[in-house]
Amino acid sequence: MDVFTSASELLRHHRPERPVLALRPHAAQRAAKWFLANFPGRVLYAAKANDAPQIIEALAEAGITAFDVASLVEIQRMAAVKDAELYFMNPVSRGAAISRAYREFGVRRFAFDSADELDKVIEETDGADDLTLFLRIACPNTHSLIPLEGKFGASQAEAPELLLKARQRATRLGITFHVGSQAVVPAAFGEAIRQVGQLIVSSGVLVDAIDIGGGFPSRYPHSERPIWRASWTRWCVPRTNWRSTLASLLCEPGRALVAEAESVIVRVDARRDNALYLNDGAFGTLFDAAYSGFRFPARLVTPSRGRTAPEAEFVLYGPTCDSSDYLPGPFMLPASVTEGDYLEIGQIGAYGRVLANRFNGFGVFDEVVLTDEPMLSMYESAEDETSQAAWPARA
Ligand SMILES: *Cc1c(COP(=O)(O)O)cnc(C)c1O
Repeated sequence: MDVFTSASELLRHHRPERPVLALRPHAAQRAAKWFLANFPGRVLYAAKANDAPQIIEALAEAGITAFDVASLVEIQRMAAVKDAELYFMNPVSRGAAISRAYREFGVRRFAFDSADELDKVIEETDGADDLTLFLRIACPNTHSLIPLEGKFGASQAEAPELLLKARQRATRLGITFHVGSQAVVPAAFGEAIRQVGQLIVSSGVLVDAIDIGGGFPSRYPHSERPIWRASWTRWCVPRTNWRSTLASLLCEPGRALVAEAESVIVRVDARRDNALYLNDGAFGTLFDAAYSGFRFPARLVTPSRGRTAPEAEFVLYGPTCDSSDYLPGPFMLPASVTEGDYLEIGQIGAYGRVLANRFNGFGVFDEVVLTDEPMLSMYESAEDETSQAAWPARA
């Protein structure tokens, strides 16, 4: 893959017709190193957020070799990583997938959220005696931009009995939850952990592991410096006495590890007033800008022709003929932007490329590696001093 020092450097060499996925593996690596240094437990990468081999390789090189996977395809992909440790955390799986995961890929860690799903795991693994089972509990997603509530998770009423039942079958037993993606209020984790504590007390069942899931936020213009790492890390594992439970702690960030690690470089195919028609959009890497209210950072990268125009607000349209291929933004760009210009749209590394489809014949990308800094970063070195003390010290 071609390597450039920046998007403008790329444009000095090419005028790409297709949108270009611009990877910054070094940004994924920096995020991984930060989590490994600061989280007092095992850090899993939620494999669905970005499946680019260069990104996965960067995470693995930094030391993340444990993965939250949800399907056989993800299992197959992540099993290729050296020394991979796979956690099959989809609480509803097909029996054949569980069986193959166990037999062919050596998966020993499974999630469930109902008696039926627990039975399925036990049945498909022939009552194996080497399983780590995680009970997924429902928890409020009120503090996240993309709530994942309602689909998965045992209710507070169901959970104690399920925990007891699983305790009898599991070699190691865990509890897990997901506070929702882009959880912008750190207390969300604290509330969920308190719920875990209550469950342990009310069921009288001791657990070996607590997996606090994903949801760690990244930086976007609509939640600029959402809560600094310094604060979210302090709150994620609040003054609970989790250590006295002797349970080991795990987390499964997706977004926070990879959001910064990819941009998309797009071409302006037309301008109508303050609407720009681009060659990528809602059915490409920018789904969340159309359907989840995200505003990604955007900048003009076409070699400047001496333009120092003031900025203006723009809305963007993608290339398909569907009117929902519309990104309301607003996106701040120089007022002079015009047809034929190229833009870099940043922070699309999480849930960008993986959601792109071929609708209307679009969704085909070129790819390059960029060595410069991401457009926004949660992991700038200036923040490191305040954040270092944020997590409880490693046990
Ligand atoms: C999607 C998912 C994650 C990652 O969520 P982010 O918001 O990207 O951090 C973690 N765990 C599970 C079970 C998931 O489904």
